[in-house]
Amino acid sequence: MSVIKADAYGHGAITAAEALKESDAFAVARLKEGVFLRQKGVEHPIVLLEGVNTEQDFITASEYQLSPVIHLHSQIQLLQTLTLPKPLAFNWLMVDSGMHRLGIRPEQVEMALTLLAESSNISGEVGLMSHFANSDLDGDPRNQKQLAHMLALKHKTSLPLCLANSAAVICLAESHQQWVRPGLMLYGVSPFSDKSGTELGLKPVMTLKTQLIAVYDLEVGDQVGYGGEWTAEVPTRIGVASIGYGDGYSRHLSNKAEVIIRGIKAPVIGRVSMDTICINLNHVEQAETGDDVIVWGTANLAVEQLATLAETIPYELVTVLCQRVNKEVI
Ligand code: PLP
Repeated sequence: MSVIKADAYGHGAITAAEALKESDAFAVARLKEGVFLRQKGVEHPIVLLEGVNTEQDFITASEYQLSPVIHLHSQIQLLQTLTLPKPLAFNWLMVDSGMHRLGIRPEQVEMALTLLAESSNISGEVGLMSHFANSDLDGDPRNQKQLAHMLALKHKTSLPLCLANSAAVICLAESHQQWVRPGLMLYGVSPFSDKSGTELGLKPVMTLKTQLIAVYDLEVGDQVGYGGEWTAEVPTRIGVASIGYGDGYSRHLSNKAEVIIRGIKAPVIGRVSMDTICINLNHVEQAETGDDVIVWGTANLAVEQLATLAETIPYELVTVLCQRVNKEVI
């Protein structure tokens, strides 16, 4: 079950659905995302990981043959009072095995399943889904605890399980049950803070690129950007590249990140503005206006490294990119 929520982690939901068409199912978070995929002709089973809560949303899910995850008793009660246009198929009960985000407590699962089995709005078997809170911490005992809850439920109910996110696919083999449910790794990015995608044998599929829109020379003492946070200590050639926090490029990368121009790494200097970043070109000979600027996407300029510099996770960097940005997804 390929997770293509949040516009496939910023890579484009339709591009991803096409590239991942061998998947048995897709998962998105919200109703709107599922409807969009159906309107674009995607025919796979589509799970809505956030579920839905209102009568109208259940009706829309039924009309578009989407499968909202059941994670609340109030959803089950609502299903008991409705008559949907078509019964919901490919159903999943989300179990709270320890993350305490969305899900029914393990001890209430059998009761929930009984009620769902009685509902004419539910067709076929209901699978059991759960999500790991710490699978990016290899060997953390909390993963085994969550797994034990789910294996016990499988033993009791004989229902299929869907547990593993990317980190669990990579390092928690026992969690590979009837289904796995990876997201980030499908895009070639590592879910671990201490290992890059390339180190895991993954290939990043996104290259984020822009161009230099100006190149000029600074004198010693000249300051760059808002707040003048970078001062030229030697005569410096700088380039201005067309990308900023208005594109989703994190302001936390100010004075920290590097980009690649003409195959050479060059530092981002000064604060990231809304539309632009400034780059020290002293080591990039002959750089000129119009040159390509690689912002991330190569083995030596991985989004994981930039996420560490920005004190965040690569999930966030790729997901927050805006429409106007120029990303190549291969
Ligand atoms: N399942 C659920 C419920 C999720 O929320 C997510 C991602 O946040 C995933 C699966 C996929 O996780 P990952 O991208 O770490 O593989």
